[in-house]
Amino acid sequence: MGALGSPIQYLPGVGPRRAALLEKELGISTLSDLLHTYPHRYIDRSRITAIRDAVADAAFIQIKGRVVQRKLINAKHLSVIVEDGTGRMETVFFKGVKWTYDKLSPGSEFVFFGKPQLFNGRINMVHPEIDAPMEGSLVQNSLTGIYPSTEKLKNAGITSKLVCRMQQAALGICLEEIEETLPDYILKDNGLCPLRYAIRNIHFPSDTYALEKALRRLKFEELLLLQLSLLKQRFNRSKASCGIRMEKVGKDFHDCYNALPYKLTAAQQRVVREIRADLSGGHQMNRLLQGDVGSGKTMVAVLSCLIATGNGYQACLMAPTEVLARQHYSNISKYLASTSVKCAILTGATTPKERRAIDSGLKSGEIGIIVGTHALLEDNVQFKSLGLAVIDEQHRFGVDQRARLWNKSGLDGIPPHVLVMTATPIPRTLAMTVYGDLDTSVIDEMPPGRKPVKTVCIPAGKISSAYGFIRKQIAAGRQAFIVYPMIYENDKLDISNVENGFEDVMKAFPLPEYRTAMVHGQQSQEYKAFNMDAFVNGRADILVSTTVIEVGVDVPNATVMLIMSAQRFGLSQLHQLRGRVGRGADESYCILVRDVKTSREAQARLDLMVRTDDGFEIAEEDLKMRGPGDLEGTQQSGMPIRLNIASPAKDQRLLEEARKYAGMILEADPGLAGERNLLLAATLRKSRFGEIQDYSAIS
Ligand code: ADP
Ligand code: MG
Repeated sequence: MGALGSPIQYLPGVGPRRAALLEKELGISTLSDLLHTYPHRYIDRSRITAIRDAVADAAFIQIKGRVVQRKLINAKHLSVIVEDGTGRMETVFFKGVKWTYDKLSPGSEFVFFGKPQLFNGRINMVHPEIDAPMEGSLVQNSLTGIYPSTEKLKNAGITSKLVCRMQQAALGICLEEIEETLPDYILKDNGLCPLRYAIRNIHFPSDTYALEKALRRLKFEELLLLQLSLLKQRFNRSKASCGIRMEKVGKDFHDCYNALPYKLTAAQQRVVREIRADLSGGHQMNRLLQGDVGSGKTMVAVLSCLIATGNGYQACLMAPTEVLARQHYSNISKYLASTSVKCAILTGATTPKERRAIDSGLKSGEIGIIVGTHALLEDNVQFKSLGLAVIDEQHRFGVDQRARLWNKSGLDGIPPHVLVMTATPIPRTLAMTVYGDLDTSVIDEMPPGRKPVKTVCIPAGKISSAYGFIRKQIAAGRQAFIVYPMIYENDKLDISNVENGFEDVMKAFPLPEYRTAMVHGQQSQEYKAFNMDAFVNGRADILVSTTVIEVGVDVPNATVMLIMSAQRFGLSQLHQLRGRVGRGADESYCILVRDVKTSREAQARLDLMVRTDDGFEIAEEDLKMRGPGDLEGTQQSGMPIRLNIASPAKDQRLLEEARKYAGMILEADPGLAGERNLLLAATLRKSRFGEIQDYSAIS
C-alpha cells in the first residue's frame, strides 16, 4: 500500500500528539483509517440561525453576529456576548482563552458554529467554532460533515473542522489509490456507485443526491459483508455439528421441579421445553435466553443444568462478577436442596485449600454443578464431563475465554451445550439479522404478582422530597438503592462523585437511625462483598453505589431505586438498574434525578423510562435514538457487533436487502471460490467481519 497506509501524523495540523490521541480515541492511525471514518451527520453551513430562534437542542447551528462584550473570568474562562440584531447570546471558552480573547475584539463580526444549550435558564454555546464571515457562499460545500468526537479530542483541539481539513488533505493525496472492493456484478445488480465516488462524497458531498448514493453504497457493503460472514458460518456449522445427546429428563430435574415453591410461568415452561428438545437432539445447543430482569431466568438455568446432571454430565454457570456468582450460588443451592446434586462455587476469592477440594471434585465428577467467575477458566480446572455451560450476561465474556472452557470439558473435543442468558433485551428484528441464526428463547412473561415499578423524574433541586420519601419507606421496613454515575476524567475513573454522594446521604440519613453502606468498583473484593452483604442481609437500609449493582443483585426488600444524574445513563443501564427493585411483594419506586444540564436527547430517554416498563420497547427505542456515530452508547447496548456506518434500527430495509442478496451469492458459490467472487472473498477476509465471532457458534 502506498500513501493510504501512511500515518496521519504528517497531515497539516496534526502532529505526533494529536495523532496518538486520534489513534487511541477513534482507532485512526493511517490515511486509510481516516478516510473510512465517516461523518455521522451533516449540516447545512449555508444556513444562519437568528439568535432569537436558537433553542437548546442537540443540533448544531450557526449564528452570525458582532462581539459586544468580552470578559475574562479569573484568567481561565472567557465569556463573549454576541449580538445579531435579533438578540444576544453568550459564548463561553475554557481552552485557548488568550488566543480567543485577542481574536474576538468588540465590534468585529464572526460566524459561530456550535451546539446551543441551556445554562442557568439562558441559551449559550460552549466552545463554538469561530469563522470570519464570508460574503456570498459561506463555505464551498454547503453540506458539511460532522465527525464523531470525544471529550478528549475536543480538549486537544481536534474539532470536526480540523478533521474535515484532514480528510480534504488525505483525499488529495490518495483518492486515486482507493481500489474497488466489490465485484462489478454486485455494483450493477444493486445499483451501487463505485467506492472512490462514495468515499469522496461521504466526506464532501457535491449535493444531497451524491450523498445518498455514497451512503447507500457504503451501508450496503457493510451489511452485505456482515451477512455473508454470518451466513457462511451457519453453512459450515450445519455440515459439522455434533453434540452430546441427553436422552432423558432425569431424576434430578424431577426432584427439583416437584419441590418448587411456585408454578413455572407459561413462558418458563415453553423455554424449558425448547432447551430440553435441543439437549436431546444430538446437535450442540447454542441458545440465547432473553428475559427481562426478574422474569425468572435462573430457574430455567437450574432446570437445564439438572437435565445435564440427570444424564451423567456436569454443568457450569459462569457469572461476570464475584457478587453475581455468589448470589447465583446461594439461589441455586436452595433449589438443589431437594436433589442429591452437589454444587460448588469457584471465584478469585476461593482459598487454596477450598480450591484443591473443588479441583478434585470436578475431576472425579463428584461436583455436579459449579458456579463461578473467570476463575473457572484457570488452568487447574478440569472437568470429568462438562455437558452444559450456562453463561450469564454474555457480552462480558470473550471468545477465547469460551474456547478455553471447552478444552476442559473432558469430552474429547465434543463441545458442551451452551446457554447464554441475557437481561439486555435485544429487539427481535435485530436478533434475527445481527445474530445470524442463533436460536433464541424469550421469557416474555413475569412471575405472577410482580407490579410494575412506579417511575418518576425529578429535578436535582427537589432531592429533599425524594429523601423524605425514602425515610418513609425505611420507617416501613424497606430498603433503598442510591446510584451515582461513574465519571471518567483525564483517563481516570473518578470515584469522588460517589464518595461525595455518600457524605451527602450520610448527612440526610444520619446514624444511628439510618445505616448506609457504599460499594464501588475501586474497592477491594472483600470490602465490596462485606458492604454488599450488609445490604443484602438487611444490616444497611441504604446502599450507595455506582453501577456495580447493575446486573443481577437480588434484594426483594428494596423498594426504592434513586438514580442521581440519571441523564448520564444509557437506557439499557437505567432499565437494568430499575430492575433491581420490584422483586418482592411490595410496591416499588424508581426516582430519576436529572441535573440542570440535561440535553433534550437525555430528557427523551428519561421520559421513555417514566412511560414504560417494557424492556423490549425500551430496547427498540434505544436503538432508534442512537445513530452509528454514538460512540459511548453502542458498547453498553448489548450489541455484539459494531457497525461503522449502517444502523440496524434505521437501515432495516437495506439490511434485509443485503441479507437476501448475501444468501443468493452463497447459494451459487458457498465457498466464495468462484472467479467472479475472488475480489469479494478478499474484501470479506480483510474486513472487520472476516473474523467475526458468530454468536450462534460459541464453541
Ligand atoms: P432473572 O434472573 O430473570 O432476573 P430470577 O431468576 O432472579 O430473574 O427471578 C426473579 C425472582 O422471581 C426470584 O426471586 C425467583 O425466585 C422468582 N421467580 C422465578 N420464577 C418464578 C415463578 N414462576 N413464580 C414466582 N416467582 C418466580
Ligand atoms: Mg438473574
